[in-house]
Amino acid sequence: MTFDAAQLPLFVDDHAQSGGGVGDHASTGEAFTLETARPFTFLLGLHKAKWLGDESLAEVPVLISRNTLARRRKWPRPQGPYAIDSGGFTELQMHGRWRLTAAQYVAEIRRIVAGLGRAKLLWVAPQDWMCEPIVRRGGVVVPRRGKPIHFKGTGLPLLLHQWKTVQNFVELRRLAPEIPWMPVLQGWDTDDYFACAELYARAGVDLFAEPIVGVGSVCRKQNTLEAARLFEQLYYMGLRLHAFGLKMDGIGRAVTSLASSDSLAWSLHAAHRPPLPGHQLPGPGRPKGHKSCANCLEYALRWRSELLYDAFTALHHLLVTDPWAFDEAA
Ligand SMILES: [Zn+2]
Repeated sequence: MTFDAAQLPLFVDDHAQSGGGVGDHASTGEAFTLETARPFTFLLGLHKAKWLGDESLAEVPVLISRNTLARRRKWPRPQGPYAIDSGGFTELQMHGRWRLTAAQYVAEIRRIVAGLGRAKLLWVAPQDWMCEPIVRRGGVVVPRRGKPIHFKGTGLPLLLHQWKTVQNFVELRRLAPEIPWMPVLQGWDTDDYFACAELYARAGVDLFAEPIVGVGSVCRKQNTLEAARLFEQLYYMGLRLHAFGLKMDGIGRAVTSLASSDSLAWSLHAAHRPPLPGHQLPGPGRPKGHKSCANCLEYALRWRSELLYDAFTALHHLLVTDPWAFDEAA
């Protein structure tokens, strides 16, 4: 498999039935309109497993970490579609390595999926290796608010992070082919992601045949246009992308080239603001009331609605101005 225009027909075919996508604009010369824009799915990040069973999430796709789920013995029946994150960022941040082998990870995921049920499971993230310099070299991040975050550092070169990511995916799929593992591209500079795609190809994984491909280590880059350009390039090649942890300001520009993204940022957003009116007092879903909405599903759902509205507005703005204005803005 090579990454050139030869892959494009695969992509065009894929979207012909659904009325076309953004890439068709370039390949067919047809107008890019709101009607032809590709559907985008936002996965709301949850940090409470019990919320999976909440009826207000029946139409809301969610992402929840293995770390949150693994602590439980009983699970609710998920009301809406759900995906499982590996918790890899925390694992590498705190320990500088994966403490679980692939076989142990498979056993844990099987236990969780058996508990929650397969019916609404979208995908499961592998034990990938994020490539941010601080994840590899270690160090301390001092946020504007909150405690400093210490990174142990893996001490490994970027290429080895990518290699381990690809090898792990291959091993997980071999050990548990019944689980919908999502391959994840890891890298730091744009070229790294293409190199990682090449590693998958050499390992016999056809990313173009995958229903969804994760793009990792992008959450620290999204204030630049680099991430948006990367998504666009990968999208044009025909990959269906999930961007991990994209924040509000990153979503508008990227929404045209992503199939999905997720965020748990609502919780931090709520932690530094007064609660929603009346939430100091007991009410539905809050028997005691609360001082902040950092653990409040109602807040999370409102935040999601605003995010989707902003993404829609940003998309509309791109459509009525120039959807391909990336180069001029650089
Ligand atoms: Zn609240």
